[in-house]
Amino acid sequence: MRGRLPPWFKQRLADPAVMSSMHDLLDGFNLHTICQSALCPNIGNCFTAGTATFLILGDMCTRRCTFCAVKRGHPGPVDEAEPEHLLEAVEKLGLSYVVITSVTRDDLPDGGASQFARTVTLLRENAAGITVEVLVPDFRGSEKAILMVVESGPQVINHNVETVPRLYPEVRPGADYARSLELLYLVKKLNPETVTKSGLMLGLGESREEVIEVMGDLREANCDLLTIGQYLQPSPQHHPVIRFVPPEEFTEYEAIGQALGFTEVASSPLVRSSYRAAELYDRAKSC
Ligand code: SF4
Repeated sequence: MRGRLPPWFKQRLADPAVMSSMHDLLDGFNLHTICQSALCPNIGNCFTAGTATFLILGDMCTRRCTFCAVKRGHPGPVDEAEPEHLLEAVEKLGLSYVVITSVTRDDLPDGGASQFARTVTLLRENAAGITVEVLVPDFRGSEKAILMVVESGPQVINHNVETVPRLYPEVRPGADYARSLELLYLVKKLNPETVTKSGLMLGLGESREEVIEVMGDLREANCDLLTIGQYLQPSPQHHPVIRFVPPEEFTEYEAIGQALGFTEVASSPLVRSSYRAAELYDRAKSC
């Protein structure tokens, strides 16, 4: 289903000057963002607000999720200077809340966990009062890798289940629904102080019952925060949008999520897993 987006996706265009200065800053530090790589619809708002979700471990993924615009193929070597560059960018932007994600690096023995740990440790040791959220891949379920990230001390560990298990073969080949739940459960077991978070995209062909079942599974994994947004097709080569879910259904899911016991739920068509992440965290902390 291509063609016009529903009216609720209408957004004000961002100031081109602000956008280019953010692009220049990121290029200057040889940093990538998921905002740019995944063609996020909120990039104008976030860059204008002077925030971004940093993409570490390069911009090429070893997996082929059919909804994702990130480049795929054989990634290059890990940039050893990346944690320092990220710290410099965070200081230059004056960020107090930082979200770090990565492509999936199945080519690395630890899946990139050590680069996450180095980056988080450097930020926490050098940026006073900073809150760090990491949006991690599944590290192929490696407990050693997950422990490395947990021990580096990010306040929030996010791992998206993305969609319902029935759709995994066509939407997230290479991923495993049970493995993703197990990762969230393990993080909470390893450090109950860590806030856990996950995210769902709607409009890929899931049913209402399946969405609610996934929300229940996440609560069983002691997941604290949930984001729910509308899938948008990055190009005709990507998975089609099966349905544009109306805003009122997102509102219903938010209420269902609260009733299921999530500390906080952000649910609306433009929500993305790290969109307004600091707000969601603050709301959860004030509960
Ligand atoms: S693993 Fe992540 S970055 Fe890689 S293709 Fe899937 S969604 Fe995109």
